[in-house]
Amino acid sequence: MNEVLNRPPLNQRTIRKAVHGIGIGVHSAEKVRLTLRPGDTDSGIQFIRSDIKGAAPVQASAENVADTTLSTSIANGGVSVATVEHLMSALWGLGIDNLVVELSAEEVPIMDGSAAPFIDMIESAGIVEQKLARQFIRITREISVSQEDAIATITPYEGFKAGYTFVANHPVYDRYPKYVEMDFAQTSYIERVSGARSFGLEKELAYAQSIQKCLGSSLENAVGVSDDGVLNPEGLRYNDEFVKHKLLDAIGDLYLLGRPILGAFNGYKSGHALNNKLARAILRCDDAWEIVTLKADTQSGEGMPILHSAVASSAL
Ligand SMILES: [Zn+2]
Repeated sequence: MNEVLNRPPLNQRTIRKAVHGIGIGVHSAEKVRLTLRPGDTDSGIQFIRSDIKGAAPVQASAENVADTTLSTSIANGGVSVATVEHLMSALWGLGIDNLVVELSAEEVPIMDGSAAPFIDMIESAGIVEQKLARQFIRITREISVSQEDAIATITPYEGFKAGYTFVANHPVYDRYPKYVEMDFAQTSYIERVSGARSFGLEKELAYAQSIQKCLGSSLENAVGVSDDGVLNPEGLRYNDEFVKHKLLDAIGDLYLLGRPILGAFNGYKSGHALNNKLARAILRCDDAWEIVTLKADTQSGEGMPILHSAVASSAL
């Protein structure tokens, strides 16, 4: 089991060998080849556009977020990479710290609209532990951001817990749970969250396409919702798939901090823009967290990690 469950990895991790996938961008509808390659220790997640000669890598970083309209895009030096959030969420779920993500076009392929295909790709490549300790951002005081009536908050917690409230007045959404809370020391991200697909109202698709978004969207990569029900013949994967997808997005957006968080996230109507606002607020409030590494608790015999040492927080 490669999952961050009960026992977060203590050392940094990458993949054993390169692995490839092909898909389309959900917004661009462009075909794209995705290659994941092992990354060096302390290199983080780096995106490389193989279709742009000599393009500098774009680091997965909250400060590189350049657009949050319907998905999260990052950019650096005029090179941009779109729709990174589901892949970032999968990387958080598997505890991958260092990776080179090569793309033959601007957008990460949407695959089936969830994080599960990325989990499968990484597990097929294999995961290797690296020599350096993994660094966590341990939240020491609450940080909260808001935008109109949406709120995103992070509070201290020994582990990682995430809650989300999905607010949408629609007769179909109203049939399903709108709140989820998970403590990932007890709940499997891979089993319970990674399969949650993107979703949208059929009647909102025309508007999205008028602003050149969702051009590749279909029932193959999203849950479509009409005024009467779910359009996909296979139905939902989880009864609370809608709210879980919002949680999956938030986890991916927060992993753009470059290190996993030890804390509790709570989102109320929070989307990509507010998730990024929270990530940037965390970076700014450097008295509200510290960088820590973990070591196994030999006393309990359960291999549970304990806080080990605080490294200068300015190292982030
Ligand atoms: Zn999403």
